[in-house]
Amino acid sequence: MANLFSNYIDGKWQPAKSSKTFENRSPANHNDLIGLFPASDAADVDAAVSAAKKAFASWRLVPAPKRGEILYRVGELLKQHKEELARIETCEMGKVLKETRGDVQEGIDCAFLNAGEGRRLFGETTPAELPDKFAMSVRMPIGVCGLITPWNFPLAIPTWKLFPALICGNTVVLKPAEDTPHTASRFFEILVEAGVPPGVVNLVHGRGEEVGAALVRHRDVQLVSFTGSAAVGREIASVCGQNLKRVSLELGGKNGQIVMEDADLELAVEGALWGAFGTTGQRCTATSRLIVHRAVAAKVTDALVARAEKIRIGDGLDERVEMGPLINQAAREKVLRYIEIGKQESARLRTGGAIQNSGNCANGYFFQPTIFDQVKPTMRIAQEEIFGPVLSIIEIGSFEEAIAVLNGTPYGLSSSIYTNDVTRAFRAMRDIETGITYINGPTIGAEVHLPFGGVKDTGNGHREAGTAVYDIFTEWKSIYVDYSGKLQKAQIDNN
Ligand code: NAD
Repeated sequence: MANLFSNYIDGKWQPAKSSKTFENRSPANHNDLIGLFPASDAADVDAAVSAAKKAFASWRLVPAPKRGEILYRVGELLKQHKEELARIETCEMGKVLKETRGDVQEGIDCAFLNAGEGRRLFGETTPAELPDKFAMSVRMPIGVCGLITPWNFPLAIPTWKLFPALICGNTVVLKPAEDTPHTASRFFEILVEAGVPPGVVNLVHGRGEEVGAALVRHRDVQLVSFTGSAAVGREIASVCGQNLKRVSLELGGKNGQIVMEDADLELAVEGALWGAFGTTGQRCTATSRLIVHRAVAAKVTDALVARAEKIRIGDGLDERVEMGPLINQAAREKVLRYIEIGKQESARLRTGGAIQNSGNCANGYFFQPTIFDQVKPTMRIAQEEIFGPVLSIIEIGSFEEAIAVLNGTPYGLSSSIYTNDVTRAFRAMRDIETGITYINGPTIGAEVHLPFGGVKDTGNGHREAGTAVYDIFTEWKSIYVDYSGKLQKAQIDNN
């Protein structure tokens, strides 16, 4: 009998009202059935939203430091269960244990950061322009937040949204990705154990087009926070726009790493390998373009090809494995399509480019680490997000050209430059059009206390993490207290 999992609504674990379920299978071995999860619909979303709406009335009045105490307990429980959570994640998402442990650690860091913020959540006090008058601005919670998350960071991304939402006094309904429902269920058990009151957090499993879309459209959801593809993000933004609903979007990337001729090349190669093939290339911040100076291109490319061919592929639960599978069959087909596109565009396939299905890879969605060189900046493989282990190498002849190529895509999430020239490093920090820039580090590796997000088509101007995230989850209220005992008119009585 397969394990049967539930939604969590109004403090109760419950099946979908329709009783329908969907299967969750391991991407490393599709014979491994992890469990059956509720295939929910709009009726389940409605129940979850009304529970969250009811709970908001009291949760918003709990002092933020008290809400923080619960988040401290959540952080402690995540720490205690770190290994168990990492294994759950690896089983259903595929990335190697070393990385899923990092994903859980990000959730732990996020819990403690937000718990502490419960004693800050700073507003401003400022002098009023009239005598005997006091002025301040404070952050107010918004209400019911609909959180929709992808599968590539099945714990970290939900925590990035849910903890700031809660510390600010909001209540939430989470719709996790259908490829990684188990991590979300275990995360919710921990929230319950830590003492999050009924109705404050609600979990509804199911398909994006059904549950996600119903959440976005629900009139009692005041705010939608979405991380996922640009295509779905656009759709959600247009629905929210029609309804004048707040929406924050964290979307795709086509991140580039520049390697100048003066760089430490060994370091640059190591960075590119980690950036391109970590998480099997399925990070929004993955390095998918290497923009390398002509003078060192051959040396860098040869070193990368040699190292990529040695990457051990397999089940992420095996500690010796360095790269796990792609998430599902559709993802593997998409990567294969881009390999054909690259070849048709006359890029040169230097290594990889094929499904890996021999030996221990026979039953999963494995793919070889792939490198194209002779890529032109306008080719589709250099412009579109592939979301797999595919690196496109583009040669440039100058620093200015490198920056122009890096900026020449619709996306603007992460970027990196390897150089030992301080002038180039500072010009890059100024001129690269991305939300995140690394100097002498790969395009991946964000820390939770700095703003995270991108420019251009990567989002709609919001930032998660750090304290910037509170601008998503609160409204500013300006408050004036007049203790003069008379009517004072701003702009009129003050000259
Ligand atoms: P996706 O857009 O297919 O799905 C993301 C979530 O949206 C899932 O929970 C899905 O069920 C739901 N969804 C799908 N259709 C929906 C609809 N019509 N209405 C409402 N919800 C819907 O993305 P994915 O394949 O899960 O994730 C990969 C994408 O996410 C990549 O493009 C990647 O770059 C991006 N991503 C971005 C960041 C970031 O912070 N910028 C982080 C991780 C992933």
